[in-house]
Amino acid sequence: MNKILISEQEIQDRIRSLAAEIEQDYPKGDEIHLVAVLKGGFMFLADLVRVMSTGVTMDFMALSSYGKGTTSSGQVRVLKDLDSSLENRHVIIVEDIVDTGLTLHYLQDILRARAPKTVRTACLLSKPSRRTVAVQVDYIGFTIDDHFVVGYGLDYAEKYRNLPHIAILENGQNL
Ligand code: 5GP
Repeated sequence: MNKILISEQEIQDRIRSLAAEIEQDYPKGDEIHLVAVLKGGFMFLADLVRVMSTGVTMDFMALSSYGKGTTSSGQVRVLKDLDSSLENRHVIIVEDIVDTGLTLHYLQDILRARAPKTVRTACLLSKPSRRTVAVQVDYIGFTIDDHFVVGYGLDYAEKYRNLPHIAILENGQNL
């Protein structure tokens, strides 16, 4: 059975409040450059930017972890880099989920080296009980327990990304 952990409505409501929180944190009139991590971050970015009224620009990055299956090794490779420079821009990394924190830790390091004005991070989901490295996440949609989740951008073997909610993957089937 499909076990919904976070409904579509809950996600949309939370994204509206995150957008308001983000907009309050930047000086009025400053542009925000959102960097989404593919593929999982695409849906969160799309919904987030549609409820923001600040001037935003966006870019995409694709990373691959050398770890296979449902764990991360911490060794990360850039599959697709950004199209534009981050120099002197307010950057927000937009991620689907922070689990061990290794991917995000790596990403924050490489983006900070590109001379942005500020770098913050927004993650739709966080699993703090799984963290192996301390990583700063400025905006968290939902804190969840240690479940493998799919939907709303998150996959299992490339499936389920299109679900409008977050579901717990129980046996890889019947979702
Ligand atoms: P970390 O480096 O923080 O351990 O892992 C981050 C990445 O692992 C995420 O961007 C995501 O691709 C994947 N990941 C971690 N937890 C889950 C999960 O519960 N479901 C899915 N589908 N992917 C996950």
